[in-house]
Amino acid sequence: MPNSTGSSASAIVYHIPLAQLAAYRGQRVIVRSDNPLELATRLGEDDLNNLAYVQLCSLPAGTERLTHWAVDLPIELAVEDPAEDFAQLYRYAKLLDNHPVRVALPVTRGFEDAVRLALSLQFAVRLHVRQPTAPLIEQMARLLDDYLHRPTVAQPIEYFHNLLLGLCREEPVNLWAIQEEDPALIRYVDDRGEERLPGKLSEAEPGSDPAVFVAHWGDTLLAVGAECGECPFFAPCRGYFKWPQRDYDCAGVKSLFHILQNAADEIRGDLAAAPPAGKPHPP
Ligand code: SF4
Repeated sequence: MPNSTGSSASAIVYHIPLAQLAAYRGQRVIVRSDNPLELATRLGEDDLNNLAYVQLCSLPAGTERLTHWAVDLPIELAVEDPAEDFAQLYRYAKLLDNHPVRVALPVTRGFEDAVRLALSLQFAVRLHVRQPTAPLIEQMARLLDDYLHRPTVAQPIEYFHNLLLGLCREEPVNLWAIQEEDPALIRYVDDRGEERLPGKLSEAEPGSDPAVFVAHWGDTLLAVGAECGECPFFAPCRGYFKWPQRDYDCAGVKSLFHILQNAADEIRGDLAAAPPAGKPHPP
């Protein structure tokens, strides 16, 4: 997946429907479709070179054709309604024979069970997070605890995973980039071929320069005295959780940031205390 901590910007990735492939040839793309057979037949060798990953929308049937196609190409399964759709994930386990597979799902009713099933099937996970309520934060906290402490959880859960990596390494980290929602890095192309801002920004006005959207949003929050000005996590968050409602209470999401920060500090401390390679422990 093209996900990163956002510390280094690269060329823009376009999230396109398969029908727009011809218009975006030569660009770095994510291609989405609910037709696995069409994906496998219409994407040629040259297309694969510029492909970040393919996204299967609506959990379509008939993915057998993809199992032995474009080996090692990452595949994302988009789950729209976790409570209704999660049992279908079993049908996609075979894709793991030849592909990294990630399940993308909204933090909404039923998402915790869906994430647990995805992880047990060895799928990576990406959480679409908007402005979670307290009960949803509690479920996110349980999943974060599993991610940090359960040896059986071997796959990353985003945004936790890349945020933890960035905090461990004390590198600049950008939650918008981790979530593939920073317009400086990714643009969404709708079915009519119109370019929009990605993810939860899809209804926002792009402004004259979408590449500075996140920086401008952060500046606006600071200028109006939002709680971001006092928040120890503003650098990685950049006002992510204040979109779309600026008055969203961040107490819950900040508690998740604190857990990740403490885990990162602990890991760094353990690494610093470890003896250099090849040097034996003192008796
Ligand atoms: S966690 Fe909330 S208060 Fe802190 S920077 Fe993010 S949006 Fe602002």
